[in-house]
Amino acid sequence: MSDFLSTPIDYLKGVGTQKGFLLKKEYGIHTLSDLLSIFPFRYVDRSKIYKIRELNEEMPLVQLKGKIIRTALLGEKFQQRFIALLKDDSGTLDLIWFQGAKWLVGKFSSETEYLVLGKPTLYKGNYNMAHPEVDALPNPNALPALGLQPVYPSTESLKGKGLDSKGIRNLMKQLISQIPGKIPEILPQNILTTFQLMPRETAFIQVHFPECMEQLSAASYRIKFEELLLLQLRLLKRKVNRIQNIIGPVFNKVGDYFNDFYFHHLPFPLTNAQKRVLKEIRFDMNKGKQMSRLLQGDVGSGKTVVALMTMLIALDNNYQCCLLAPTEILARQHFNTLGKMTHALGLNPTLLTGSTRQKEKRKIIADLKSGAIKIIIGTHALLEKEIEFEKLGLIIIDEQHRFGVAQRASIQAKANPTPHCLVMSATPIPRTLAMTLYGDLDISVIDELPPGRKLIITQHFTNAKRLALFGFMKEQIKEGRQIYVVYPLIEESEKLDLNNLMEGFDALSGEFPLPQFRISILHGRLDSEKKENEMKSFVKGVTQILVSTTVIEVGVDVPNASVMIIENAERFGLSQLHQLRGRVGRGASQSYCILMTGEKVTREGLKRVEVMCQTQNGFTIAEEDLKLRGAGDIDGTRQSGDLNLRLADLSRDQQILEKAREAAIVLTALDPDLQMEIHRGLHQALQSNASSKFNWSKIG
Ligand code: ADP
Ligand code: MG
Repeated sequence: MSDFLSTPIDYLKGVGTQKGFLLKKEYGIHTLSDLLSIFPFRYVDRSKIYKIRELNEEMPLVQLKGKIIRTALLGEKFQQRFIALLKDDSGTLDLIWFQGAKWLVGKFSSETEYLVLGKPTLYKGNYNMAHPEVDALPNPNALPALGLQPVYPSTESLKGKGLDSKGIRNLMKQLISQIPGKIPEILPQNILTTFQLMPRETAFIQVHFPECMEQLSAASYRIKFEELLLLQLRLLKRKVNRIQNIIGPVFNKVGDYFNDFYFHHLPFPLTNAQKRVLKEIRFDMNKGKQMSRLLQGDVGSGKTVVALMTMLIALDNNYQCCLLAPTEILARQHFNTLGKMTHALGLNPTLLTGSTRQKEKRKIIADLKSGAIKIIIGTHALLEKEIEFEKLGLIIIDEQHRFGVAQRASIQAKANPTPHCLVMSATPIPRTLAMTLYGDLDISVIDELPPGRKLIITQHFTNAKRLALFGFMKEQIKEGRQIYVVYPLIEESEKLDLNNLMEGFDALSGEFPLPQFRISILHGRLDSEKKENEMKSFVKGVTQILVSTTVIEVGVDVPNASVMIIENAERFGLSQLHQLRGRVGRGASQSYCILMTGEKVTREGLKRVEVMCQTQNGFTIAEEDLKLRGAGDIDGTRQSGDLNLRLADLSRDQQILEKAREAAIVLTALDPDLQMEIHRGLHQALQSNASSKFNWSKIG
C-alpha cells in the first residue's frame, strides 16, 4: 500500500479527533485507504429535477426544487420534529426532521429557492420526505452541476456528528482531490489489456465522482474485478496448499466389497454421471493426498449410492468410514437404506444420534475405538469429543450446507492422516458461485437424473380450491399413492406455526376419517421415538398422508409418495421449495406438487411460486433464487469469512467472477507464490487484504 493511503484518517482535513473516533468505532475506518473503500451505494442524477406531482413511491432518491413556505417545530422531547412545507409549481410536500429538529428553526427563508434531495414516502395519502438534503440555490435559475452524485451509507451516530451521506461525500471530495498520482497500479499490464480494465487510480476517482455512466460502469467493473481476483487467488492458493501438503490415506485397492456390490448387488444400473463421479472420487483417493470434494447433484440424482460405493472403497482398504447427516430422520433413513443395500455384503452399519441410549452408546464408542464398527452413520452426535476411531479413512457429509466449516474440521481431526472428505449437496448453486463458496474444494457434479423420471406437475392453488384439492387427494390415495402435506415452521413464530399445522391436521382428519384413511404427523416437538414411529408408518405405507413441518425437507426418500402439498408456499424460499418438491417424483407414477397460498401474496412470494410452476431444473431455480435474494443469503455464504466483498456482488457479478477466476488460474499457474516483479503489487494487496481490520460487514 502506498504511504499516502495508509495515512491515519484523523489527518484528513475535515475529520479531526471526534469524527475520526466515530469513523473507527462505527465502520472500522482507520486509514485513508479504508475511507476510499466506502463506496456509494447509489448515485443520484443531479441534472434531473422532478415535480412534486410526478412523485411515486417506487422512486429512490429524487431531486425537487421549490420554496419553503411554512415551517413548524412540533412535539416535545423525543417526539420533537421539524416540518417544512416545500412548494413548487405543481404542488406541496412536507419535509420532516426527527433528529436535530430544534437546530433547524429559523434556518430557512421563504424567499430562497431550495434544491431538495430525498426519498418520497406516502403517508396518509400525502408524500413527504424524511431527513432530506437541502441546499439553497443562490440563483433561482441556476441548475446544479450536472452529473451523478454519490450517495453514501451512514449510521445514526455518524449522522449525529454531521457525517451523513453529504458529510461523507465532502470528506471523500477532500480525499479524492489529493489522490492523483498516489494510487499505484497493482495489476500486471497483460491483465489490464486482456480484460480491458481501467487503471486503478482512475477507477477509484470515477467510482466516487463519475463523469458519466460509461466511466462509472468501467470504474466499478475494474474494482469488482480486482476484488474477485484477489478472492480467487486466495482460494486457489489454499487449494494448491491442500493438494500439495495434506497427506491422506492411500486407497489403492478396489477389492471384494466394492466389486461384489458392483457386480452382484447394485439395485439399478448406474447413470453415466454416477459412474463418472465415482471415477473422479476413486482417482482422488488413491493419490496419497487428502481428498476434499464436493459432490453436487440435484435432488433425486442418486448421491446416496455414490456415497455407499465410496465407503466400500474405504473398507476395501481397511479403513473405517462415517456418514454425517444433519437431521435424525435423515440419518435414520440412510441407516435403513444403506443397511438394506449392504446386507448381502455381510455389513451392518451402525447408527448414532442424539437419542441413542447411553448403554448402547458406550458400546458404540468402544467398538469404534476397537475397529469393530466399519460404517457408522449419525448426526452431530458423531462430532462429540468422546467419539474416537481406530482408523477413520473417509468422512461423508450429506446436505453439507447444514454444517459449518468448523464442524467439518472437528471430525477431520479425529484421524491422522486426515481422512478423505466427500461433502454432498443438493442445493444447486451455479458453478461459479460454487467455485467461490467452496473454492478450495474439488467439485464433482451428477448432472443427470436416473432414467424414467417423470416431470412433476406443479400447480398453484389458492384456498378457494381446497375442496377440489381434497377430491384430488382422495383419487390419488385410491390409486395407492401417498401424500405429503408440509407446513412452514419459522423459528420466530414457532408457536403460531405449530397451531397452524395442528389445525391443518385436524381439518384433514375430519376430511379423511379413520378407518379408511390414516394420517401421520411429524414436527420438531415430538420426541424421537414418536417421530420415528410416525415416519415408519408412512414409509411402510400404513399411513397415506404425512402432515409435517420442514423436518422432511432434506433427503427423505419414499418413492411411493407422489403428491407434495405445500401450505403457505409463499413463505418458503425457492431452494426450500425445490428440496420439498424433490421428495416426490421418485417412483414410477406421475407426481404432483401443489403450492397452496392465500389470495393475497407478496410480489416476491408469487414470483417464487411462479418459478416453481415453470421449471424443475435445480440450476435454473438456483439462478432465480440468486436474483431474488442476492448471494448474501445463500446457505453457507454467511459462514465464509472469505467473502468480504465491498463492491462486487456474487449474485449480480457472475460474469466478472468468471473472468476473474480465469485470470487467477493463469496467474497461479505462471507464478504460484506471486514472486515475479510484475506481480509485486498483487502480492502486497493480497497480504494487506488478509490482515485488514476493516469491518465490511457493518457497511450498507
Ligand atoms: P439424492 O441425490 O437426492 O440423495 P438419492 O440417492 O436419495 O438421491 O436417490 C433418489 C432415488 O433414486 C432413490 O430412490 C434411489 O434408489 C434412486 N436411484 C439412484 N440412482 C439410480 C439409478 N442409477 N437408477 C435408478 N434409480 C436410482
Ligand atoms: Mg440425499
